[in-house]
Amino acid sequence: MSDLEIELKDVSFSYNGEIALKDVTFSVYDRDFIGIIGPNGSGKTTLVKLILGMIEPQKGTVNVLGRKPSQVSSSIGYVPQNTSINENFPITVRDVTMMGRIGGRREGWRFTRKDAGITREVLRQVGMWENRDARIGDLSMGQRQRVFIARALATDPKIIILDEPTASLDPPGQMILFDVLKELNKKLTILIVSHNINVLTEYVNKIACVHRELYFHEAPHVTSEMLRKTFGFSLEHICPLEEFPERPPVDGMNLK
Ligand code: ADP
Ligand code: MG
Repeated sequence: MSDLEIELKDVSFSYNGEIALKDVTFSVYDRDFIGIIGPNGSGKTTLVKLILGMIEPQKGTVNVLGRKPSQVSSSIGYVPQNTSINENFPITVRDVTMMGRIGGRREGWRFTRKDAGITREVLRQVGMWENRDARIGDLSMGQRQRVFIARALATDPKIIILDEPTASLDPPGQMILFDVLKELNKKLTILIVSHNINVLTEYVNKIACVHRELYFHEAPHVTSEMLRKTFGFSLEHICPLEEFPERPPVDGMNLK
């Protein structure tokens, strides 16, 4: 039995009285690799922010590693949605990654040899060490995402959460990203928000469907029923048939 790392019990969250998430109960265990899917505006980022302690629920409880999320924020690496950078700003891959080491430092701190060592290690893990002196603005979107993952890893987290990291990537870029995550998953718990259901189901061990409520399933099965509840569509509408040549969209199918 693996350790419980994230636990939401009966959580509801509203923005100015407008309900975004309702009665969400959700458990994540050590080394889970969870794919979070749902239409735009369905509450996926809100769920992520609750886990990170950036917002607090009006109802219910959120526990991360047995404590309040705000007390363990350094144990969670976060790759936010729409990370934007100034393409002309002359900051290198290594500098961006090293920024992950800054959290919680006191005034007058300096980077240490240990910071440099960790930066090298995490850049190797995402396959970007060779590009360490490149400007971030000169990289492809997929390479940038891997640097943002490295920056999240630099905090030495137990859990990493990625909010739509694949949105602007081409298919090869997505596969590389997921392969990196698969490798990281040997040591880390991963939550990833992604619309790419067919790639997701190749990699994750559980799928969570969010649409104001959470339809969490303990196996990586995407069924037409889950998608109907989540998106109001069945599988055929979201993933065109030709993307699943040997995988007919029928109820209960396992996309693995
Ligand atoms: P998703 O990430 O699934 O696209 P979000 O969690 O960002 O969805 O948003 C869920 C709902 O909450 C949406 O209706 C969105 O408009 C609303 N919302 C999100 N952030 C805010 C905010 N800061 N203030 C007011 N409403 C918000
Ligand atoms: Mg979002």
